[in-house]
Amino acid sequence: MSETKLEDIVSLAKRRGFMYQGSEIYGGLAGTWDYGPLGVQLKRNIIDAWWKFFVESREDVYGIDAAILMNQKVWQASGHVEGFNDPLVEDVKTKKRYRADHLLEDNGVEAVAAMSIEQMGQALKDHNIVSPDGNPLSDIRQFNMMFKTHVGASEDDTSVSYLRPETAQGMFVNFKNVVDSFSPDMPFALAQVGKAFRNEISPRDFIFRVRELEQMELEVFVHPDVWKEQFETWLSLQKDFYLYLGLPADKLHHVEVPAEDRAHYSKHSIDTEFDFAIGQKELGGCAYRTNHDLTAHAAASGKNLNYIPKDGSDPFIPHVIEPTFGIDRLVLAVIDSAYSVDQSNGEDRVYLRLPEHVAPVKMAISPLLKNKPELVTKAREVFTAAKKMYGSVLWDDNGNIGKRYRRQDEIGTPQCVVIDFQTLEDDTVTVRDRDTTDQIRVPIADLLTPKNSN
Ligand code: ATP
Repeated sequence: MSETKLEDIVSLAKRRGFMYQGSEIYGGLAGTWDYGPLGVQLKRNIIDAWWKFFVESREDVYGIDAAILMNQKVWQASGHVEGFNDPLVEDVKTKKRYRADHLLEDNGVEAVAAMSIEQMGQALKDHNIVSPDGNPLSDIRQFNMMFKTHVGASEDDTSVSYLRPETAQGMFVNFKNVVDSFSPDMPFALAQVGKAFRNEISPRDFIFRVRELEQMELEVFVHPDVWKEQFETWLSLQKDFYLYLGLPADKLHHVEVPAEDRAHYSKHSIDTEFDFAIGQKELGGCAYRTNHDLTAHAAASGKNLNYIPKDGSDPFIPHVIEPTFGIDRLVLAVIDSAYSVDQSNGEDRVYLRLPEHVAPVKMAISPLLKNKPELVTKAREVFTAAKKMYGSVLWDDNGNIGKRYRRQDEIGTPQCVVIDFQTLEDDTVTVRDRDTTDQIRVPIADLLTPKNSN
């Protein structure tokens, strides 16, 4: 369990401009959060790091960006129309809806993940579980989590579409296109980053469970004979990426998903759980999807989705290993891991110990006094040059230096640079380190010499 409290993270995130409640001025929209200026930069840094790690630095991964709206036949063939369900019960008085498995877990019932929907219904009765408002519950039923919509002006069955609940299907339907364009050797992967939508019965825990989320997914196409070793390879790469983002190894746990709890397409799944402030919960997953999706799409579309090996051996429908990353949960895990408190001048100091390549602001630049034009002019010069070099550099002349350091600590800025009177004499600046609070004098020329980037 993390020592950090969720409410501290939420408060900092809101106060400092990482995330705001979606549609806040209208009272919000449950399950939606808006990323503010720092949140979106943090998220973008994570996405960029992922893209570099899994796509740009490899020759066997092809990136794509498929449309969110897809032909409804995609979701019929993939099994989502039939099976992308969560167990729902309703408070018979208030009509509020709850996820039955969550109610069972919240009431201390064990091994819920392995229960069928009928067993969950029985367990609710056996344990006399009522709604959080103390009222009786309705019978349990399956609830499909896809957002349904209509494409075009007519609203009949033929115009139905869904906001995608995962990015994966966009890759399966483009499998043949990429093979035809690039003739990749097997194994190879498609990768995609994008929004997904799930009409969660009870969104909760800040950005952990939302209705509009973002995912980074890879579909690795393999020969069935090698699925096990490929699974291990990608599971291990997934962990390497978590560590690269600064998540501590001892807070990451591989948990095998029991057959009853696996998604309808999966034959073997290992979730990575993380010690969040809200407890040990799923951060991401790695699933062996077999050839379920391509077989289903080949049958439903009538297209040949076989892979033809270059060595002349028999064509086959590839099997798939899918490492999946939920970006919102990753952002939460990164902030949770970085959230630190120490004592400074007899007071608690809150700071985000973010790795430099993840931090939304790389450097803050201030003149010691904002009413001294010579300091401001010099500081502006340094700021302009630093911004050109590092991009996300912040000008901060608000309040006294102590307050500026506090603010920058809270948003995880690794370095604060102050231009003072000595700078005017010898072109050196004070650089203050976020984690140690140590201050050193550095020539401006050194500050503006590129470091090896990660
Ligand atoms: P859970 O069991 O927590 O509902 P899941 O097993 O349904 O999650 P997957 O279908 O494996 O999740 O989705 C892949 C990843 O997408 C998850 O590991 C998670 O990081 C993210 N994710 C899924 N649902 C949500 C959600 N409602 N809010 C935020 N992230 C989500």
